[in-house]
Amino acid sequence: MGGTTEGRLLAERLHRDPRFRILLSFAGRTAAVQAPDVPHRVGGFGGVAGLAAFLRARAVDALIDATHPFAARMSEHAVQAARETATPLVRVARPAWVAIAGDRWIDVASFAAAAEALGAAPRKVFLTVGRLEIAAFREAPQHDYLVRAVDPFDPGLPHARVLAARGPFALADELDLLRRAQIDVIVSKNAGTRATYAKLEAARALGLPVVMVQRPVLAPADETTSIDGALAWLAGLHGASLSRRGE
Ligand code: NAP
Repeated sequence: MGGTTEGRLLAERLHRDPRFRILLSFAGRTAAVQAPDVPHRVGGFGGVAGLAAFLRARAVDALIDATHPFAARMSEHAVQAARETATPLVRVARPAWVAIAGDRWIDVASFAAAAEALGAAPRKVFLTVGRLEIAAFREAPQHDYLVRAVDPFDPGLPHARVLAARGPFALADELDLLRRAQIDVIVSKNAGTRATYAKLEAARALGLPVVMVQRPVLAPADETTSIDGALAWLAGLHGASLSRRGE
């Protein structure tokens, strides 16, 4: 299950490895899925029952959850469907970003809390959340929002413009953007990816506060932080199944 850079890179590595047959799954949330050069499918499975049926029908030997850290529903379904079907599951959980000297982060637990943390007085906000997460900010319509998301959409806010762009973003461009738009504060999810880290470096350089939305807490599962970790987990599984068959 992909939707992330790690998911795509991992799928490409596995596709070149004759020990495995892979299928990469996308939710289909973005208008233009960056179609990888590997077998893939697009669209939801239909909840836990749908995913469990899919795993059975395809006789899936291993499930890798390489979705975005904020794709909590999919990760939860993966845990449940894997348990129901006794399918080995590993989650590729990239480490969260950690504040360093010079960062002015305000950690919050939800998008609603992020909207509240912006305060009552109107501010110029750089909002790096998507279409599905914007609703919380309609409770704080007094701010002037510059919203950056992969696809353009109507934010439904009186003072907002959407900048459709896909990372990676470079520090010089982020500095330029923040200065030109005279941004007072940034709102970000703690995604943990390198591709969108430059906005945080730019905030540090300009002394801007960042309202950082913490990750949802997921049900326990085997976890690895890297593509190599997932490959090692799979290699272990493959070796174990060969020795069970006496090969
Ligand atoms: P979500 O709330 O966890 O997922 C909602 C539903 O979308 C799931 O229940 C599932 O539908 C379907 N779905 C999600 N990921 C899927 C996958 N890889 N393959 C097939 N179906 C999937 O997640 P979301 O917030 O909608 O996110 C959707 C996708 O966007 C995820 O793959 C995630 O990795 C990516 N994402 C990217 C970012 C980013 O900033 N780059 C942020 C959030 C999410 P059913 O219940 O019908 O199976």
